[in-house]
Amino acid sequence: MDESDISFFKDGLRLDGRRADQLRPIKIEVGVLARADGSCYIEMGGNKVIAAVYGPREVHPRHLQEITRAIVRYRYNMASFSVEERKRPGPDRRSHELSKVSREALEPVILTSFFPRSVIDVFVEVLQADAGTRTAGINAAAVALADAGIPMKSMISSCAAGKVEDTIVLDPMKEEDNFGQADLPIAMTPNGDITLMQMDGNLTPDEFHGAVEMAMKGARDIYELQRKALVDKYSKMVEKTGQEEVHACD
Ligand code: UDP
Repeated sequence: MDESDISFFKDGLRLDGRRADQLRPIKIEVGVLARADGSCYIEMGGNKVIAAVYGPREVHPRHLQEITRAIVRYRYNMASFSVEERKRPGPDRRSHELSKVSREALEPVILTSFFPRSVIDVFVEVLQADAGTRTAGINAAAVALADAGIPMKSMISSCAAGKVEDTIVLDPMKEEDNFGQADLPIAMTPNGDITLMQMDGNLTPDEFHGAVEMAMKGARDIYELQRKALVDKYSKMVEKTGQEEVHACD
């Protein structure tokens, strides 16, 4: 099957009923894992991804230590059951690439110089995949880093734009990603500093600019949801602590 076998639009809407510039529904939960220092569960459309952050903690093996800063490790893993055709368990070329680019997307905002000789470990587990798992993973990891109390210059938010039937679309789902004409994931700070940009397929210069603009708008909307998820969790905690203090005074 190739692109010509699929019709990506019906009555001007995409296969899942979205407009071209619309994100899939997003759900973000903070602090879902008891044993991690920080964690986040995210759903972006059909993607279900969990991120766990450990550290800053001592580096093992020790020869990896950096005397002026913490090192950041990021492991992206796709569960065998996360995709239609069972994925062979364990690391492969794709997961190595995604781990590297995702780490590089987050590292610029982490204040690693605060924690010399230590490591910050980020684990991202894809439980269900529907295209855009790297962007979902980065969004979850950024929230999990904040939840772990890791000092950061800013949040990082990530979103892709794609091209199907010569139309630029936001946040491509699997059919659009696998059989479309282009895919362009980005990650950025709320100020619009881009820390990840990848592209496959073909875009004209105008389409490229349009796709970047659309992905940046998507990332800005995702930032608001990340922020809200963190504020919700911590305001509830503050409320609870306040109530406990009141009871203690009773
Ligand atoms: N995919 C799959 N099996 C694999 C790798 C990917 O079924 O071994 C699917 C999965 O739905 C994934 C999508 O193809 O989300 C797009 O994969 P890509 O490598 O473009 O990364 P992603 O868009 O998930 O960041």
